[in-house]
Amino acid sequence: MNTDRKLIEIGGIAVEVVRKDIKNLHVGVYPPVGRVRVAAPLRLDDEAVRLAVVSRLGWIRRQQKAFSAQERQSQREFVSGESHYFQGCRYLLDVRTHVGAPRVRLTGPGTMALRVPPGFDRDQRETVLQRWYRRQLRALIPPLLSKWQPRVGATVAEVRVKRMKTRWGSCNADARRIWLNLELIKKPVACLEYVLVHELVHLHERRHNDRFHEWMEQVMPTWRIHRDELKRAPLAHEEWKY
Ligand SMILES: [Zn+2]
Repeated sequence: MNTDRKLIEIGGIAVEVVRKDIKNLHVGVYPPVGRVRVAAPLRLDDEAVRLAVVSRLGWIRRQQKAFSAQERQSQREFVSGESHYFQGCRYLLDVRTHVGAPRVRLTGPGTMALRVPPGFDRDQRETVLQRWYRRQLRALIPPLLSKWQPRVGATVAEVRVKRMKTRWGSCNADARRIWLNLELIKKPVACLEYVLVHELVHLHERRHNDRFHEWMEQVMPTWRIHRDELKRAPLAHEEWKY
């Protein structure tokens, strides 16, 4: 497709304009920072595009405001009373100091107990929780591999875990290595299974083409349900490519 892109400034807002062979003008505001992108038909000149954007400035500003509010909301302090997620359930954090090694435990209904030595700051509390999340996720992987590798008919050399901004998982088919996003531990286990199966299927087919989707249908007919669940809150403010 013949495209041409440029950056213009309208009402103090930077707008990326992409000209394409399309019928209608489309304005989008994208998380996390509220980037504005306009897809405009080739026949519209700069002035027409400018006018179309100006008429939507109110809406654009409201979208940007909503994104920055969400961004603030996701700044966690790791203090008592804060909501944190584990395997699709919401827990209220209960932070107390104790003498001994820092630890996390799920106690009672909906309580995530974080015990840290006196003087632990916000970043140290976050590190304790992230390490615990990582251990929990890593513990889930071997049984899931035993379950799914035979069904998919593919085996991996290794599965690694890291925090990723825009992906739930990725696959290096040559190295037979799969990366999983640490954030998956906050989602129901079925979502983790879906991402793992998706990446395993990439060992057969690298692209998201018909062949790939035939594999998914055959191995995990419910995959769409899990994909939709992944897209829902609490992480929906990120722009996930999946
Ligand atoms: Zn994929």
